[in-house]
Amino acid sequence: MLAEVDVAIIGAGVIGLAIASEVAQPKKGVFVFEKNRTFGLETSSRNSEVIHAGIYYPEDSLKAKLCVEGRGLLYELCDGHGIGYKKLGKIILAINENEVTQLEKIYEQGSKNGVEDLRLLSQTELKKLEPNIEGRAGLLSLSTGILDSYSLLKFFYSQAKEKGVEFAFNTEVIGIEKARTKYKVEVRDRDGISAFSTRVVVNAAGLNSDKIAQLDGLDVAKAGYKLHYCKGEYFSLSSKYRHLVSRLVYPTPEQAGHGIHVTLGLDGRVRLGPNARYVDAIDYRVDETQKEIFYNSVKRFLTFVELEDLEPEFAGIRPKLQAPGETFRDFIITHEEKAGFPGLVNLIGIESPGLTASPAIARHVGKIVKEFLG
Ligand SMILES: Cc1cc2nc3c(=O)[nH]c(=O)nc-3n(C[C@H](O)[C@H](O)[C@H](O)COP(=O)(O)OP(=O)(O)OC[C@H]3O[C@@H](n4cnc5c(N)ncnc54)[C@H](O)[C@@H]3O)c2cc1C
Repeated sequence: MLAEVDVAIIGAGVIGLAIASEVAQPKKGVFVFEKNRTFGLETSSRNSEVIHAGIYYPEDSLKAKLCVEGRGLLYELCDGHGIGYKKLGKIILAINENEVTQLEKIYEQGSKNGVEDLRLLSQTELKKLEPNIEGRAGLLSLSTGILDSYSLLKFFYSQAKEKGVEFAFNTEVIGIEKARTKYKVEVRDRDGISAFSTRVVVNAAGLNSDKIAQLDGLDVAKAGYKLHYCKGEYFSLSSKYRHLVSRLVYPTPEQAGHGIHVTLGLDGRVRLGPNARYVDAIDYRVDETQKEIFYNSVKRFLTFVELEDLEPEFAGIRPKLQAPGETFRDFIITHEEKAGFPGLVNLIGIESPGLTASPAIARHVGKIVKEFLG
């Protein structure tokens, strides 16, 4: 007889942890399976740690709705549980006339998404707010912030544990098989291969989420679930530039990312990035040959920075649903009941703003799971 659980969550990144803490209920066995030795070692700890306002995404998309809702929830969580953050705001820059027109469009898009505190800035206003930045105009977002992502992960993890969720680290899910009203999930850990049975499977496996969806027999290609890896590298600026800016500063966005921007750590350290490069494999090394591209990109608005001021820092990888050159794809958060898999919830393509949206994604998935389990 197989061991039984009610809910099996695959992946202990911010999404799996937030969902675990949301769906935990007395007398319900909720288990999180994580292939690494602890939580949050992949995309959730390799990002810009920005609390996004929700400006860029198409109206009514999950990215827009869950980002705006998640941002509000996240600030409440940070306030209520001592998670470090700063609501310092961000400026999107226009460097030439074309980009000024683009800024106006971004302003309209943000307003439609419910980002109510955006303000267009003239060149004089921009210079007053950020004297070290060169630009023709700006768009100020007051509700953008930065946070200590490790504290957020730790908070979700501790809350889930307190509510009785069990964590199995060093445990990789290698098979999922539908067995009448349940699923047989096969895992590999240090002791070998074992299996258990569960009513609900939540696939929050980040960069592997398309492969996990495939394990349970879904036609991933047909469903449009195939992921493409898009690397984002960061370079740090030398410590003499600490407190160079008071806000995050972004160029007008590119297709695959937000453009190489200036982010700040909670300690005032300045970091440049991320870039957006499609890659074939997961490799977190920073390619030093990118340095010159970073330099040329930020030189447009940080005119006094020199090439030798940049040092490679770290990289993360976006699980993108769109292949190079393709247009916007939304988060996939689907209960696969209609596809013949009741109780299976797939979360695929949870790239930015996934960290910001995490508490809202957890609520969304929590509703699905509670409704299903009754
Ligand atoms: C460069 C970059 C910058 C970003 N910046 C921001 C930002 O500033 N603000 C923002 O809101 N968002 C940002 N994001 C997005 C955000 O980081 C992600 O949306 C979020 O971290 C996704 O979390 P996750 O839990 O889905 O994935 P992950 O953190 O990758 O977690 C998935 C987990 O699943 C585990 N797993 C995979 N396969 C298996 C298996 N078979 N068995 C068991 N476990 C398995 C993995 O080991 C991993 O721990 C950024 C992303 C990148 C790449």
